[in-house]
Amino acid sequence: MGRSSASIEGNVLRIEKTSIHDGEGLRTVVFLKGCPLKCLWCSTPESQKSSPEIGYIRGKCILCGICVSVCPQKALSIDEEKEMVSIERDKCNGCMLCVKKCPSSALKGYGARMTSKQVIHEISKDEVFYFHSGGGVTISGGEPFDQAEFVREILIGCRERGINRALETSFFSSWEKIESILPLLNLLYVDLKHADPEEHKKLTGVDNRVILENIKRADASPHDFDLVIRTPLIPGLNDSDDAIKKSAEFIKGLKKIKFMEFLAYHRLGTETYKNMGLEYPLQEIKTPSLEFMKGKAIKFQEIAGVPVRINGIPLNN
Ligand code: SF4
Ligand code: SF4
Repeated sequence: MGRSSASIEGNVLRIEKTSIHDGEGLRTVVFLKGCPLKCLWCSTPESQKSSPEIGYIRGKCILCGICVSVCPQKALSIDEEKEMVSIERDKCNGCMLCVKKCPSSALKGYGARMTSKQVIHEISKDEVFYFHSGGGVTISGGEPFDQAEFVREILIGCRERGINRALETSFFSSWEKIESILPLLNLLYVDLKHADPEEHKKLTGVDNRVILENIKRADASPHDFDLVIRTPLIPGLNDSDDAIKKSAEFIKGLKKIKFMEFLAYHRLGTETYKNMGLEYPLQEIKTPSLEFMKGKAIKFQEIAGVPVRINGIPLNN
C-alpha cells in the first residue's frame, strides 16, 4: 500500500514520548489543543482554547520590557504598580516572539500549528520502542474529534507504518466525525465524567446525552477496537453511590469494553492556571485516598460486572 501524501494542519499542544499511561507499552502521546468541555477539575487549562497561547511565570520575570517592545500586537505592557507584565489575551495572536526573546524564560508558549506529516514524523522516531514494548501512539486532548480530519490523516499514516493506535476522547462530537475515525483505532478511551445529563452539564458545561448515544453506537459498530471507559473521581462532585451506580448500569451492557478505569483527582494543573492568569475553580478539593477509590471501584464492579482499574492498576491485583 502506498503511503498517504495528504498533509493537513492542526493545533498541537505538545507531544510526549515514552509514556506508560494511555495504552499498552511505551507510547507517544499527541496532545491536541481545543476542547468543547469546561470540566471544573481540568488539569490542562492550556488545552482548552484551540489556538496557541502564552503563560507568564512572574517569579522569573526581571521586568526588562523586551517582550513589550517585540510584541507586534501590542498585547503586552508592564504594570508598574503590580510589578509584572500584563497580557491582553484578546490581542495576542500566539506568534511566540515574546517567548523566544524573553531572556529569563518567564514566558511560556502553549501549542503550535503542525502538519499531519510533521506529527507522523515525530511519532515514527520511536517505532523501535513500540515494536519492543507493544506500544504505539495515543491521540489525546483537548478533544481529538474537534480536529477530525487532522487526526484521521495522522492515524492513517501510523496505520501504514504498522503503529498501534489509541485515542482518548470526551465523545462530545458528531457521529459523522467519530465514524470517520473508528475504523483506524485499536483502542478507544472515552472519558465519562458523570452518567447523569444534568449533573454532567453542571460539571462540564455540556449535556452528556450525545456522549452516551455515541458510546452505544461505537459499541454496536462493526469496527474491531477495544473500549475503555475512564472516570476521574472528583470528591463530592461525581463519586456518590448514586453516580457510581448510574454509570455502572450504563456500562454493564457494553460488548467492546475491556475495562473501566477510575482516575484519582489531582491538582497538577494549578501552576498552569496561575501562569495563564486563571482562577483554579476547585480550591478546597483534595485527592481521594486509594482505600476510598477501591470502595467505589468494588461497588462499580459488583453492578457492571466488568474489570476495573484504579490509576492503571487492576482492582483485583
Ligand atoms: S505571543 Fe506574539 S502576539 Fe502574543 S503576546 Fe507574545 S509577542 Fe505578542
Ligand atoms: S522579556 Fe521576560 S523578563 Fe523581560 S519583562 Fe518580558 S517576561 Fe519579564
